Amino acid sequence: MPTRRGDDSTIIVMQRDASPDDVAHVVERLRDVGAEAHVSEGQLRTVIGAVGDRAAIQQLPWEAFPGVERAVPVLKPYKFVSRDFQTADTIVDVGGVPVGAETVVAIAGPCAVESRDQLFAAADAVQQAGATILRGDAFKPRTSPYSFQGLGEKGLELLAEARTEFGLPFVAEVLDPRDIELVSAYADLIRIGTRSMANFPLLAEVGRQPKPVLLKRGFTATVEEWLNAAEYVYKEGNHSIILCERGIRTFETQTRNTLDISAVPVVRHLSHLPILVDPSHSGGRRELVMPLARAAVAAGADGIMVDVHPAPETALVDGTQAILPEEFANLMDEIRALAAALGRPA
Ligand code: PEP
Ligand code: MN
Repeated sequence: MPTRRGDDSTIIVMQRDASPDDVAHVVERLRDVGAEAHVSEGQLRTVIGAVGDRAAIQQLPWEAFPGVERAVPVLKPYKFVSRDFQTADTIVDVGGVPVGAETVVAIAGPCAVESRDQLFAAADAVQQAGATILRGDAFKPRTSPYSFQGLGEKGLELLAEARTEFGLPFVAEVLDPRDIELVSAYADLIRIGTRSMANFPLLAEVGRQPKPVLLKRGFTATVEEWLNAAEYVYKEGNHSIILCERGIRTFETQTRNTLDISAVPVVRHLSHLPILVDPSHSGGRRELVMPLARAAVAAGADGIMVDVHPAPETALVDGTQAILPEEFANLMDEIRALAAALGRPA
């Protein structure tokens, strides 16, 4: 099968202490052999994606170049996020909480921040039940432009207050590239929602800010398209990316979306990035959250993200899928038992 342009490439991994001159030298030599050089300057190290004639690229003795650690051939359209490039699992630090390590991580909280009372009641409950990251949005992507759109900066302020009060780092969505600086200034983890997964300028922009990124799967996206979206973020220098399966649109109408549970092992095979599952937005119904969360952990997910609301009947967003604090506590008990049976802490 002929490879598509760019599928056949080589990643040049620079040593941690490589100098800008070392990087420039590699780029120059790649250009000499007619290859494109995509430089991704991460917090830990710089990596360079070389796209062009493989034989021409690989004939150069990369490991003898100053500052170069190794050269890795990659045969995927997405490169930096592929397992071919990095065999070890990536562990992303979210405000001190490791995501992608042995422990099953639970992110929980309300879909949207509605008030101080609502947020604090939810944060208190999820913290006590064992969640280690709080969720809650200040900017909501709504199907109708007339629905509640979120509290904006006020919502972020409340989330930051809850972080101090309950010791939980938090994740919040960013919808508009113009809000990235603001959300990044407050949040510990920036979420790209399903509707924005293919917004490439937004992806590139979150790739240029320092906070880790939680990238949800587009509800019409294939796994390959999703990993390419992650590549947009990585390429700009942000290497702290967490993926989140949240259901895809199929012909089935009993659920809001169809949770693609097979995406968990598929992604783990194809990519080194951590993968979470959102059992709330996939099923769209409260009674499905527990079984889907169990399925996620059984399938090998690094964690779950769950909507929890102290009074779902009053929720301004997604009340039908939010579970009550006591239901979340039960869910955590089950997840812990399941994780233990699988030899994992939770
Ligand atoms: C959410 O997590 O609140 C959300 C809106 O999810 P999604 O983008 O997956 O619909
Ligand atoms: Mn929601």
